[in-house]
Amino acid sequence: MRQQKSTRTTYGHAVPDACRKGRTGGTVRRSAVWLLSGLLLLMTLAGCGGETSPGGSADAATPLVQKAAQLALAGKEAHDEAQRQAEAEAAAKKEQEEAAQRLEEAQAALQLSEDYRDSFVHGEKGADYQKYIVLHDTEGDGPAEGVIDGWDASGAGVASHFIVNKDGTIVQCVPLDKIAHHAGYGDTGHNEAFGVTDESRDDMVGTVSIGPDHADYGMNSYSVGIEMVHAGGGYPEAQLEALDALIAYIDAYYGFESTIIDHKAWRLGNSDTSPEFSNYLYNYQDHRTHD
Ligand SMILES: [Zn+2]
Repeated sequence: MRQQKSTRTTYGHAVPDACRKGRTGGTVRRSAVWLLSGLLLLMTLAGCGGETSPGGSADAATPLVQKAAQLALAGKEAHDEAQRQAEAEAAAKKEQEEAAQRLEEAQAALQLSEDYRDSFVHGEKGADYQKYIVLHDTEGDGPAEGVIDGWDASGAGVASHFIVNKDGTIVQCVPLDKIAHHAGYGDTGHNEAFGVTDESRDDMVGTVSIGPDHADYGMNSYSVGIEMVHAGGGYPEAQLEALDALIAYIDAYYGFESTIIDHKAWRLGNSDTSPEFSNYLYNYQDHRTHD
């Protein structure tokens, strides 16, 4: 029995040691340790049974062999589970690193500057709440700087997260995790249709009701707003390419593709985006670039 006990002790210690070593060592070496441990234990227990039960060794040894087999199996399962966990952790880490790399590359592709103003921020919008990218036109030809000053001076608190200039430069006015007032009230029933709700996260400062036909107000809390500098006619290629890159950046930031709509989808009859944008909008919705 002493022999059995000491072997078990050795075996018992071999399990965690092999697993620990396995994290830095090779799978082959770990498997070999397991096989050897199991075999040694089986042989030892079979021999021990023979000594204690002379004459009836086969019958007496059977429960011990079965017990040893169960122990070996339990040890193997624990070892396999540890290995699965280590592999899952490594895969998750790799995925995280690749996502960070994609975001870095997407950000590097932008000609982006920031102009944050306190009056543009109306609440928290964590990634869990992000659902839509809402496209707008500024309905003016002037570059972003003037648009931003105009928003700030209006006292209405309106703004979009980004403005894309005709030359492809982009100004960010609101951080992605903050609510901006860009979509306003939508058609009554659109909260339900778009799967958004009007929550207390939005302070609604500066908002004014526009009547019972446009009573729903959930979109701002679930979206990122992008303005294209545009007053009519075509959209320059540089501006469209910048929008492609900006959408790729937003997708990389969240790690998923937000649904792309334009402002007039939220409030029917609204003027933006322009008719000249309709083909581009279809392309963005279909494959996330303008062409
Ligand atoms: Zn708009």
